[in-house]
Amino acid sequence: MVGSCRSCDSCAKDLENYCTKIILTYNSLDRDGTRTYGGYSDMVVVDEHFVINFPNNIPLDGAAPLLLCAGITVYSPMKYFGLNKPGLHLGVVGLGRLGHVAVKFGKAFGLKVTVISTSLSKKQEAIEHLGADDFLATMGTLDGIIDTVSAVHPLMPLISLLKNHEKLVMVGAPEKPLELPVFPLLMGGIFRECLVPFDESECEAIDLFVNETLCIGKDVLKDYLERLEYASGVC
Ligand SMILES: [Zn+2]
Repeated sequence: MVGSCRSCDSCAKDLENYCTKIILTYNSLDRDGTRTYGGYSDMVVVDEHFVINFPNNIPLDGAAPLLLCAGITVYSPMKYFGLNKPGLHLGVVGLGRLGHVAVKFGKAFGLKVTVISTSLSKKQEAIEHLGADDFLATMGTLDGIIDTVSAVHPLMPLISLLKNHEKLVMVGAPEKPLELPVFPLLMGGIFRECLVPFDESECEAIDLFVNETLCIGKDVLKDYLERLEYASGVC
């Protein structure tokens, strides 16, 4: 991206990629009404806020596509979901470009990294070339999964590999919708954003109930109790 409004809620939270007035590097209308041509341009004008200083000792041609595209696609969710803490066990599904980088970052963060792929031919590449610790995984052992597969694939086997309350992060983009079995998610507490842990939610619910009850007033409560008494008598 080369620009955004810099004043909306998303921009204020450093989430400019969600800005409704985002100006993409390629095929966007710039502020002056001209179209952006990205890598096809001889010269690009970029808001300095979106310029990254690349160290001189890193070769641009090799590192830029790897770090600025595939790299940030896996680095950002790993950091956001806390999958960057040494000792955690990360599963990386698929060993294409995104998968390669996810394994590399995982090892750099000090994680135990297991590659999950239906292609056994990738085992040697995963372990010997990329430094992964293991290939495939057993049920309930992973603290998080980065799923990089962009073809339609079943999610249930992946979900079963996660510990309770852990995260399946999808960064691949299958063309067709995937089936999402909800019941195992509820039972396993997968996708923490959907389910608040028991103790917190329970306390919140109790607080809410108590406060609401106190607001009702004694006379109304008395009426409720009388009705309950009447109802139990009828039964
Ligand atoms: Zn904005």
